[in-house]
Amino acid sequence: MSNNINNILKGDLGVRELAYLLQLKGADQKLLFSKAQEVQLANVGRKVFYRGLVEFSNVCAKDCFYCGIRKGNKEIDRYNIEDEHIVNAAKFAWENKYSSMVLQAGERNDSAFIDRVTKLLKTIKYETNNELGITISLGEQTAGTYKKWFDSGAHRYLLRIETSSPVLYKQLHPDNQMHDYTKRVSCLDSLRNVGYQVGTGVMIGLPWQTYEDLARDLLFMKERDIDMCGMGPYIEHEDTPLYAQKEMLWPIEERFNTSLNMIALLRILMKDINIAATTALQAIDPMGREKALKIGANVIMPNITPTTHRKDYQLYQNKPCTDEGAEDCGNCMSIRIEMADREPGLGEWGDSPHFQNRTTPLK
Ligand code: SAM
Ligand code: SF4
Repeated sequence: MSNNINNILKGDLGVRELAYLLQLKGADQKLLFSKAQEVQLANVGRKVFYRGLVEFSNVCAKDCFYCGIRKGNKEIDRYNIEDEHIVNAAKFAWENKYSSMVLQAGERNDSAFIDRVTKLLKTIKYETNNELGITISLGEQTAGTYKKWFDSGAHRYLLRIETSSPVLYKQLHPDNQMHDYTKRVSCLDSLRNVGYQVGTGVMIGLPWQTYEDLARDLLFMKERDIDMCGMGPYIEHEDTPLYAQKEMLWPIEERFNTSLNMIALLRILMKDINIAATTALQAIDPMGREKALKIGANVIMPNITPTTHRKDYQLYQNKPCTDEGAEDCGNCMSIRIEMADREPGLGEWGDSPHFQNRTTPLK
């Protein structure tokens, strides 16, 4: 069997091969992991870059069926962290040499929100001597808004496609213009045209999702030549419509195992991109992120959201680190990175070599 795995890994990886590899366990999985690790060390090295994550608001205009902060969930307290506290968190990241932060929130497209983010980006750049890198993850916006935010200081954007299957996408979202697969994909083009480093990703182990769907997700990311990826297991939340499908979910260990295989395979397919070890992995296994860092991931996102609001950004249940302060989170992170035999890449923006080398003309 082992020879078989090595032979498959040497050949062309299409849907059939990837779907098979995604199911590996035991000794065969170890072979996959060692190949991914070899590719990781040769192309992105041992360094792990930090992105201080601020989840600054759980107000969302959308109603994705899987998400705990969807508009229709009346069971949560909505919050909006004041600009001053967000800027302080940014300064914390800068002073602690994280060198980059992520601003994430529910999706809103109203002009008050767009102007607020524009101002916030400018203030953060000013207050951190233009040194702190800023990634944003604020959902689908017009090309004009993406440009406005880029010109105000953001340079990376994370927009998960959630699944590359239009059929599955429809099952996971209300059927209306606000939740349209084609529109979401076209946002990836807009972002790239504006000049962002573009990140996407998917959830793993969704109801109805097959290994072939996940194989196509990997090929989607390769075809779109993305610069960064953040993907992780789907974790159910009881106050969401998708919870009704919980009987059909894969066991949580299988979602976790498949997530690691997805990361390893993406590293093999896209040698020089940035791949995040996401928090959802840690929600399942306390060592989840370390495991991911060993087999292909090279970015970690310490949560620096002021602690008072962390419990209200529950996309899924049992989200970890909701009561640690930013400092505890940072200390814990460097220990975790060393445990994974990796080095904290402090004081560097940590752009993916892929972005630096990318020569594909803009569309
Ligand atoms: N609102 C923005 C958007 O949707 O792009 C950014 C924030 S949203 C909370 C970030 C990501 O959380 C989504 O892209 C989705 O993949 C993930 N997410 C939401 N609910 C989840 C769940 N139940 N399990 C795992 N991930 C989830
Ligand atoms: Fe809103 Fe993003 Fe959650 Fe969808 S995934 S409901 S857009 S926060």
